[in-house]
Amino acid sequence: MNQIAKVCLIGDFAVGKTSLIRRFTESRFSESYLSTIGIRVSRKTLQILDPSLQTLTLLIWDTAGSEPFTNVVRSYYRGARGAALVCDTTRTETVTSLVQYAREFHDVNPDVPLVIMANKIDLRGARAVPNEQILEIAHLLDAPLFFTSARMGEGVEEAFQRLGQLIVEKERVV
Ligand code: GDP
Ligand code: MG
Repeated sequence: MNQIAKVCLIGDFAVGKTSLIRRFTESRFSESYLSTIGIRVSRKTLQILDPSLQTLTLLIWDTAGSEPFTNVVRSYYRGARGAALVCDTTRTETVTSLVQYAREFHDVNPDVPLVIMANKIDLRGARAVPNEQILEIAHLLDAPLFFTSARMGEGVEEAFQRLGQLIVEKERVV
């Protein structure tokens, strides 16, 4: 059986949301900023470890980000069964923003699973945020944390796979 689930990629400007989606769905990376005009939806089907469900197709919603939490953003979040919160490990403020994004997302979709992608780990020399600080936020938000690089591909598949798995498990309990 196949199911379809909408998920949102959320995070500040230029943290790598569009790049992570592109890496995951097309196995590609671009050095230039991939400007997102309006909303773009990509899809990819996951194999899920569940006796009743073989596959889960993620519809991955991408936006420009950093918009005020208005009805536009609310309508973008509506109906999502999961979200990946993305921060940039070279910019501290993008990590602290995640708490607010999680609150807003859960205001629209209470109890829906989250994962955190701490991105750009290939930029080791520019690393600005200590692991402990990111771990603390992940703990606070009760979300699995993945250190990712859209550039090198590290952690990306794993993070989306876990999100899919959490969505399926959540709905089995209900
Ligand atoms: P968005 O605004 O969150 O969608 O960010 P983009 O995906 O457009 O990425 C912003 C910039 O960061 C672009 O120049 C990307 O090439 C770069 N970028 C994204 N992910 C990574 C990564 O993992 N490593 C490195 N080195 N650069 C990245
Ligand atoms: Mg983008």
